[in-house]
Amino acid sequence: MIMGRMLAMAALMLAACTSSEAASGDAPERSQASAPVRTATAAPPAPAPRPKWRYDGELTQGGFLVGSVPDGTVSATLGDEALDIGADGSFFAAFDRDSVATIALTATLGSGEIVRENLSVSPRDWQIERVNVAKRSGGSSEAWWRKRKPEWEAIVAARAQETGASGWKRDFIWPVKGRISGLFGRQRIYRGEPGSYHSGIDIAPGAGTPFVAPADGVVVLARTGFSLEGGLIIIDHGMGLNSAFLHASRIVVEEGEAVEQGQHIGNVGASGRATGPHLHWSLKWKDARLDPLLLTGPMD
Ligand SMILES: [Zn+2]
Repeated sequence: MIMGRMLAMAALMLAACTSSEAASGDAPERSQASAPVRTATAAPPAPAPRPKWRYDGELTQGGFLVGSVPDGTVSATLGDEALDIGADGSFFAAFDRDSVATIALTATLGSGEIVRENLSVSPRDWQIERVNVAKRSGGSSEAWWRKRKPEWEAIVAARAQETGASGWKRDFIWPVKGRISGLFGRQRIYRGEPGSYHSGIDIAPGAGTPFVAPADGVVVLARTGFSLEGGLIIIDHGMGLNSAFLHASRIVVEEGEAVEQGQHIGNVGASGRATGPHLHWSLKWKDARLDPLLLTGPMD
């Protein structure tokens, strides 16, 4: 789809070149011509096109946008979130699992003009399970938090890294194929009290199966022994987008390493808090949690 848009833009540019070449090619011919001089009817100057947003993607909860900001943009936001803007005006943005139904893309131009577009973000029919048991309050003890706090801080610091990776530009592939044992967004309600929703997608191809980077990026965290995540790899794909891979039995990349789409990064396991061997893959853009399925398309 990105390619389609680029082709369309290239076609527009070609059309523009052709007409200007034709115009300049006409001039010498006219001056040499002995035929009666035709009065050139100068077309009124075309009004400069109004700068506008261009994008493609999935306008739904957990979905995303890839596009380019209006010409002359100096800063831009999606809702309250500032966008990173590439040198060529390109951007990536995404809608959280619980995104509101209408959210604004707003660009501020160098001229001070504001170009705003309200997006309709369609709601998703999340898998909700109501259970008649009390919500566990496990994991809140002080002793547990003493162990957890440095892990949590390492994850937050890793996700805050900006590596300039360009994986966000490409279509994502599945890190591994296999039975999907848990969908993104699934949530349990315990006697009316909502539990936290499932923040990624679970794939269960069997213990030890190698998994790969779904897009290019830089490894910002690769460590074993996390209390919940077990063997954990986080890859920055650039523009504030990153992937986390949990419960790995083996990690074959190092922090700081650049990885390519399709490169083996680890093996599926059940380390950390897992009921069986599976890969939990989650995607975040800044504070928004995305549905990996929308970036890869269905598994074939
Ligand atoms: Zn999971």
